[in-house]
Formats: sequence, C-alpha cells, structure tokens
Amino acid sequence: MPSPAVPFFSPRGAAFGVDLGVCLQGVVDSGWYVLGPNVREFEQAFARYVGVGHAVGVANGTDALALALRALGIGPGQRVATVANAGCYASTAIAQVGAVPCFVDVDEGSLTLSPDRLRATLRDGPVGAVILTHLYGRMGEASAIAALCRQAGVPLIEDCAQAHGAVRAGRQAGAWGAVACFSFYPTKNLGALGDGGAVLTDDTALAERLRALRQYGWARKYEVALAGGVNSRLDELQAAVLLAKLPRLDAANAERRAIATRYGAAFADLPLACPPLPGEDDVAHLYVVRTPRRAELQAHLAARGIASDVHYPVPDHRQPVRAGQAAPDLPVTEAACAEVLSLPCYPGLTPAQAEQVVGAVRGFFDQARPC
Ligand SMILES: *Cc1c(COP(=O)(O)O)cnc(C)c1O
Repeated sequence: MPSPAVPFFSPRGAAFGVDLGVCLQGVVDSGWYVLGPNVREFEQAFARYVGVGHAVGVANGTDALALALRALGIGPGQRVATVANAGCYASTAIAQVGAVPCFVDVDEGSLTLSPDRLRATLRDGPVGAVILTHLYGRMGEASAIAALCRQAGVPLIEDCAQAHGAVRAGRQAGAWGAVACFSFYPTKNLGALGDGGAVLTDDTALAERLRALRQYGWARKYEVALAGGVNSRLDELQAAVLLAKLPRLDAANAERRAIATRYGAAFADLPLACPPLPGEDDVAHLYVVRTPRRAELQAHLAARGIASDVHYPVPDHRQPVRAGQAAPDLPVTEAACAEVLSLPCYPGLTPAQAEQVVGAVRGFFDQARPC
C-alpha cells in the first residue's frame, strides 16, 4: 500500500533537525554500548530539565512504571489506583509486580484521573500507590492529586510518557509526585531510535534502589543485594540520541502546539468535541477529538490519504485478559473510549498537510449537513 499523504508520524520531523548519524557513529567508535558516559550525561541533563534530583535511565516506559512500583515496595496483593483509558501500560506494570489495579474514573473535561473519584477510592480501602497519567500531552490535576496523596500518606507516581516538557505554575510534569516515569519510544514527544525510558525522583535512597533494580539488583558488580532486580538498562546509542535532541524538545513541543492551535481554530464551529487550545501545561502529544461518528470520520479521512488512530479503543478493565473478572463502574472512561479519535499532530507535519487534515475534517461535516 502507498504511504498516506498525511501519515501519523514523521521520522524526519522526530529527529528535530539533529544529525543522528553523527550521534550513532560517535557511540560506535567509543566502543561503550550500555550504561556509559552518554547515559550518565543524559540522566543528569534530563533531571535538570525536569527539575528533580535524579534520573535513572531504563529500557522502556513500562519498565519505568514497574521499577518505580518495586522501588516503592509495592508487591503482591497491594492495590494501585490508576485510570483505565491510558493504553494499559500502568496495568501491565502493576501486574508485573504482582499488585492489583484499582481503576478510577477520569474527569469528563480532561480525561485524566478524577480527584473526586480518587478521594472516594482512597476512602474505600488501602491503596499502596497512585499513578497519575498525563494523557495526550495535557497535565492531569497534579496539584489536587498530590495533595490527596499527601493526606492519605500514599506515594504518587506520575506517568509522563506523553508529557515531556509540560509545565504548570513553573513546575514540570514529573516534579509533582514521589516518582515520575517517562518513555522515549520513537513517537513520544522526546523519542529515541528504539525503546528507552527513565524514572525520576528527588529521593536519593529511592534513586539508589532504582539503579540497583534496573541491573539485576546489584549493589556492586556481581553482588545481588536487592530482590526483584531485572535487566532494564538504557543503552548508549539511545542516550546519545536523547542527549542531542533534548535541547530542541521545547521547540518541537511548540511545533506540536501550533498544529493543535490551528486545528482548534479550524474546527471551532463543527459538531466535534475538540481539546482545549494548548497552554504551556499541554505539549500536544496527540490531538484527540471526540465524535459519536468516529468510524465514519476515520473512513472518510483514510479515503483521502489521512492517517488517524484511536487512543485507546479498549479500556483496561475490558481487555480480554481480564475476561470473567467483575468490571468496575467507569462511565466517563467507557464513553470516551467509544468516541476518541487522534488526528495527525507531530513535528514535521507541514502546514500544507495540516490544511489537508482541516479540509478533510470540514468536508466530512459539510457533506453530512442537511440542505
Ligand atoms: C507509551 C506509554 C507508556 C509505555 O512506554 P513504553 O516505552 O512503550 O513501554 C506508558 N504510559 C503512557 C501513558 C504511554 O503513552
């Protein structure tokens, strides 16, 4: 099949104008491939960027979540509060440590963890940790949720895999909880040329446990001191790429916001629920609209060479792997999963391509309008 006129991702745009070949060649020539100088330098630069004390590079974002849970001492049987509309990554990590997800509904406006619903959950029974996912690039209710967690004495884990660089009240996504987890999957706002992730924290003892856990539980080479260790390291090739791209992350996020702003203006009069215009706490990871006519709109776009996607079609509690288990009552989550549609929005999407998307979306509603 020919590639669509407007694809869903631009590898060229994702390079942020950096010559990645030079980065890679430098690592090849250095002869050091895993947990070396690039990883160390990237960890320091990224911790400084987010404004926390420590960053620990790991193999991917899901491992980052699992290692954060493990380092906080979360284990078998413990409940972890999370949302069910964010792609199942948190649920996967919770299962990895033997804990049990306790699904909490999201707020209608933000589609992120509802502070009111979380308050009720925390009253209902013991919770070992809370995971707040900043979804589609928009920061969740970090301040209210951090306060609830503090009152309840429960650690807050931020899932920042879609929110690199989002900032509210001078504070970055990743600087609100006890621990923050990032993914550097290629399509994320800060992406590598493969898998990568990081766990960030201000807590020095926690950072040390994370460093041990990502490498077999080693206190030092060949001495396994911590139970639950795994092999989840960031490699030098990925770290060199991330280090070179980091100084250009804010500019790339501005590019995403400009596209989202253009769409917002172009779709304002349509019978289509659009995200709010992005402020600095929204890095426009995905441009997600809502319509009960999702399948029709998606087919209309595909026929015009415009890629789109659904983030995410099946909520965690409805996944086949949970068949037979009682489903929690999550009406806002379920309604959203049935209606959300993501339109192309990424660095490297040209103004002409954005206008193609605008024209096609407007065309869909125009043709459907009764005369
Ligand atoms: C991508 C993503 C993850 C998982 O990251 P991987 O590197 O793919 O394991 C976790 N949470 C959210 C919200 C994500 O978007």
